[in-house]
Amino acid sequence: MKNFAYVRATSAEDAVKRSQTAENSQFIAGGTNLVDRLKVFLDEPAQLIDISRLDLKQIEVTAEGGIRIGALASNTAVADHPQIRRDYPLLSRAILSGASQQIRNVATVGGNLLQRTRCPYYYDTVFTCNKRQPGDGCAALDGINRMHAILGASDACLAVHPSDMCVALAALDAVVEVVSNAGRRQIPFSDFHRLPGEAPERDTNLETGELIAAVILPPMPFAKTGVYLKLRDRASYSFALVSVAAAVDVAGDRIRDVRLALGGVAHKPWRSPLSEAFLKGKPATVKTFQQGAEMALEGAKPLTHNGFKVNMAKRAIKRALTISAAGGGLA
Ligand code: SF4
Repeated sequence: MKNFAYVRATSAEDAVKRSQTAENSQFIAGGTNLVDRLKVFLDEPAQLIDISRLDLKQIEVTAEGGIRIGALASNTAVADHPQIRRDYPLLSRAILSGASQQIRNVATVGGNLLQRTRCPYYYDTVFTCNKRQPGDGCAALDGINRMHAILGASDACLAVHPSDMCVALAALDAVVEVVSNAGRRQIPFSDFHRLPGEAPERDTNLETGELIAAVILPPMPFAKTGVYLKLRDRASYSFALVSVAAAVDVAGDRIRDVRLALGGVAHKPWRSPLSEAFLKGKPATVKTFQQGAEMALEGAKPLTHNGFKVNMAKRAIKRALTISAAGGGLA
């Protein structure tokens, strides 16, 4: 680990101001991913700005009836919050399916959004990696790419986003509130993370000096029946091969509304607007859900070692939609 300056911010505005005082400043809160990266020289900030004591931990009901989650709320606090468990159970289950209790106690919502891929070639500096060193090449292209992307990848990077929570937030139409010297702005969740394209070193559309202040969940009554289904190599402490966040609103025997997001398949949580549009108004049957699943995987480009993900994702989507349409519960 290289030496860095350490400062403690007194407010969100102070943190933003301090980030301008040294080139290559980074914010640190729980540090559950950042410290790993510091230890292997992936990140070499000149200055770390500790934001962990800022007043950004509240979880509160909004005037519209949604929920505003402070960026420094711990993953545990969000997963255990009574209203989130009742109204957005897929978010609670997504969080509880990731990491360990100890990590969730320390990891924050803002940090969860900003965690970086767990592509092993990214962390091992013996290998080439465009995300670590732009223009270097991508060792995963001809390497072991079993855990990598089947949707939205580029030749520059095949990595997947590791978060479970973010898949649920994508399905729930969350909004990210950020603060900077220019004031505050809101970013729709689907615009927050990026596909790799030619610039895989950039994971998000955050601008330099912007700090995440909160994540806002709009009211979504049918999210009560939402499901988070995670398929992985072992039952705990494992990243998703494929995950699905789904919520279906059934009126009579028809699908009135639906949200569908996938994890473990792309560089960002993957929404499928085409599939959602197809499902709306159709009969809420397993056959319809199967068709929606086929549509969600249209354009999938499996790699040498991860062709199994295509069928796995289709089956997981069908199952998650079927369970949600039947009233939700554990997937
Ligand atoms: Fe790096 Fe992305 Fe290739 Fe992994 S997939 S080695 S993160 S460029």
